[in-house]
Amino acid sequence: MKLETIIGLEVHVQLNTKTKLFCSCDNDAFGAEPNTRVCPICMAFPGMLPVLNQKALDKSVKAALALGCEIKLFSKFDRKNYFYPDLPSGYQISQFDQPVSENGMVEILVDGEYRNIGITRAHIENDAGKLTHTATGTLCDYNRAGTPLIEIVTEPDLRSPLEAQILAKEIQKIVRFVGASTADMEKGMMRFDASISLRPVGEKKLYPRTEIKNLNSFASLQKALNYELKKQTKLWAKNEAPDGDTTVGWLDDEGKTYLMRSKESAMDYRYFPEPDLPPITFEAAEIEAVKATIPELPLAKYKRYQSALGLTEQEALKLSEAPELASFFEATVELAGEDLGRKVANLILVVVLVETYWKKTLITPTHIADTLALQSSGKISASAAKEIVAEAMKTGDSAESIMNDKGLAQKSDTGAIETWVTEVIANNAAVVADIQSGKNPKMIQFLMGQIMKQSKGSANPGIVMKMLKEKLEG
Ligand SMILES: [Zn+2]
Repeated sequence: MKLETIIGLEVHVQLNTKTKLFCSCDNDAFGAEPNTRVCPICMAFPGMLPVLNQKALDKSVKAALALGCEIKLFSKFDRKNYFYPDLPSGYQISQFDQPVSENGMVEILVDGEYRNIGITRAHIENDAGKLTHTATGTLCDYNRAGTPLIEIVTEPDLRSPLEAQILAKEIQKIVRFVGASTADMEKGMMRFDASISLRPVGEKKLYPRTEIKNLNSFASLQKALNYELKKQTKLWAKNEAPDGDTTVGWLDDEGKTYLMRSKESAMDYRYFPEPDLPPITFEAAEIEAVKATIPELPLAKYKRYQSALGLTEQEALKLSEAPELASFFEATVELAGEDLGRKVANLILVVVLVETYWKKTLITPTHIADTLALQSSGKISASAAKEIVAEAMKTGDSAESIMNDKGLAQKSDTGAIETWVTEVIANNAAVVADIQSGKNPKMIQFLMGQIMKQSKGSANPGIVMKMLKEKLEG
């Protein structure tokens, strides 16, 4: 029996607001002393009331629109009740049946083919604190409690662990491009729950699934899904396909999942409308106004860089990966001209990005555009262009002054070039004879090399070749 893999994701993204979702505590708690970014509201002291952070709502709406979702004119918050030491209030404020957005679509590129993945919804909720289990007990840090999250739920449209990973990466790029989140995996700002089931090819119904909770890297997402895929494939082969939903966790060190709960012990969250927060309402015009601020998204850039600027797939992919890099590239192309797009891409990829902290260097789009203008006018060679850009990263000096300081200008001065040409011809009589007799015409490249060496690379190669040919034809 041929089986098909069915995967859906829940992606939790932490919004990069200044303050938490319902209080004014600092939202940037990464690396802070435990329990120093807390207040009576996020610690759920009796009588404290939450107030929705407007910036968090704005960022959620922007992210949802960029994920192709419709924004609902009416949505509300609900309490999701469960008891766990990382949750001071005993409930999470989330959105149950009326989320802020629904019905989205994200396009991804898998092995050269475009695929559309449905987004069921993207809703707003607050995060819990963090527990650290030690030999002597469990430590609770509530700095993260109350941090704003969007939970992005996909349709079961993904057909392989690789596709799931590609979608997760695309979502990371999208939320970064709209400025909703920095989505740094290593800081826990993006986490996944992944559901997987199998079914015989051709069938439409969905079989019981396994949900893998709390995956915190792209690698573990793919590894955990592959592990469950193998496990379920074996069960199907033995005619023992899972007969109920299960929830598992992932042990990254051991490379395997462990059972958290089966269907019988499924959680009952006893959702009910949050009484302390008013519903969220929008006018259609407000949503249109936000829509107008959504920038060009990474996959659209990837396509345009190839079609309009002639970049290769690899170049386009790399340059459309992150917002800072894409805008640096585009600003440079704007100065240099679209016909030099490929050359701009090349200098950025080969010279600028070599420095991991390129953003902290002194390079600007003007440096690169000016350097390419010098190259186009024949004043410098391609290798000198690279040298100038590398130097500008360190000093911030203008392209022209670096060219002058380092003596990188190509000599177009025919007098100096003629001296080198004459010298090389005189010193290589045998080679000259071979070329002139037609015995070995390719040796002209050897003479060319000698002349360039004499000029220490400063001679304009076009002029050298022209003069050399004239002298040899004599
Ligand atoms: Zn607080």
